Amino acid sequence: MSTPRILLKAKRARPFFGMHPWVYAGAIEAVSGDPKDGDVVEVVSHVGNFIARGLYNSQSKIRVRLYTWDAQQSLDADFFRAQLQRAIQLRRDVLRLTGACRLVFSEADGLSGLSIDQFDRWLVVQFTSLALAMRREMFADLLTELVQPAGIYLRTERGIGQLEGLELQDGSLRGDAPGPLTIDENGLRVQISLTEGQKTGYYLDQRENRLAVGRLAVGRRMLDAFCYSGGFALHAARAGASAVLGVDASEPALQLARTNAELNGLTNIVFEKADVFNRLGTLVEAMERFGVIVLDPPKFARAGSAVDEAMRGYRRLLQQSLRLLEPGGIFAMCCCSGLIKREMLHDLLAQEASQARRLLQILESRGAAADHPVSALCPETEYLKCVICRVN
Ligand code: SAH
Repeated sequence: MSTPRILLKAKRARPFFGMHPWVYAGAIEAVSGDPKDGDVVEVVSHVGNFIARGLYNSQSKIRVRLYTWDAQQSLDADFFRAQLQRAIQLRRDVLRLTGACRLVFSEADGLSGLSIDQFDRWLVVQFTSLALAMRREMFADLLTELVQPAGIYLRTERGIGQLEGLELQDGSLRGDAPGPLTIDENGLRVQISLTEGQKTGYYLDQRENRLAVGRLAVGRRMLDAFCYSGGFALHAARAGASAVLGVDASEPALQLARTNAELNGLTNIVFEKADVFNRLGTLVEAMERFGVIVLDPPKFARAGSAVDEAMRGYRRLLQQSLRLLEPGGIFAMCCCSGLIKREMLHDLLAQEASQARRLLQILESRGAAADHPVSALCPETEYLKCVICRVN
């Protein structure tokens, strides 16, 4: 039986010859061979030339995710083992990461729709592709073979059922679900919950940004807005901040944050439950001042249509922060929406700084840690920005 074929429209093949992995429905002229969701398909140009092999999903706007551009390569367990091995090798042998890290980052590792974080001896697997999720037993076997984890736990992202037609429940794929774990991050002890925590349990992507902001906080009063389990706050307090206030709307997150402060013997941090938008306002009214402010809100823009509103949210947060920031203060603005580009944040900073008549210097415009690489062939893999500024 021959592999089902996806015939592209004329003039729509270029991104895929360029190795971009997402074939949207709009680029497709015809589907032949009656592929089922999750099946291997060949993507061919309008004159029938092989371009790439991928996995089909009629329920997703991304109709085909591409994995190989080699006509001889089949998408079997050996292929996926090699992709996983290459991803793991980057973290172990090149980056030499020994602690918690992201082992696999989807398109950035040639595995569109699969992310894997390692915490202690556990793996947390997150599928954002129906076709890969259907192969989860194979992935669990391969990961057992390659990493020998104590357990593999499955987490699902909100909204993915709708995007991919994917109905998965959080739960253990191998081994028992672990209780709370303590990992080491830059020498701090951080408690996480793989089963209850946000995302895969912890935001590993900010690991190096926390260190970068923390070292600028010596002797200053710091506000960690949207603090989750306290990542930025802990780093600043350890570096010698005079006092730290962490604010988040989630009580479970704050409980983790308080535990983390205790675990590290840090006594100059207060964690407060509040809506950051409101709390910034009351801090301004009370004429409070900070020497360091970090804003790390959740993804405001999930779809292109939400970008304008997200930017309005950022603008409000920035305006209030500038009022709270003492002269010469450090401001770190983070953004994890891929749809909001770095230049847009730099523009926003320029607009609001000039409006407030303050000189704003960008000291570092950072991204995610290197275990969350950016694929040059899939620019959408660049999502996290952390712009660290000094505001006079
Ligand atoms: N800075 C954190 C990650 C932040 S994730 C770290 O370094 O790990 C975003 C956080 O924003 C989540 O913890 C979520 O609970 C919180 N959040 C979302 N909307 C909020 C709001 N309006 N006010 C306060 N916190 C909010």
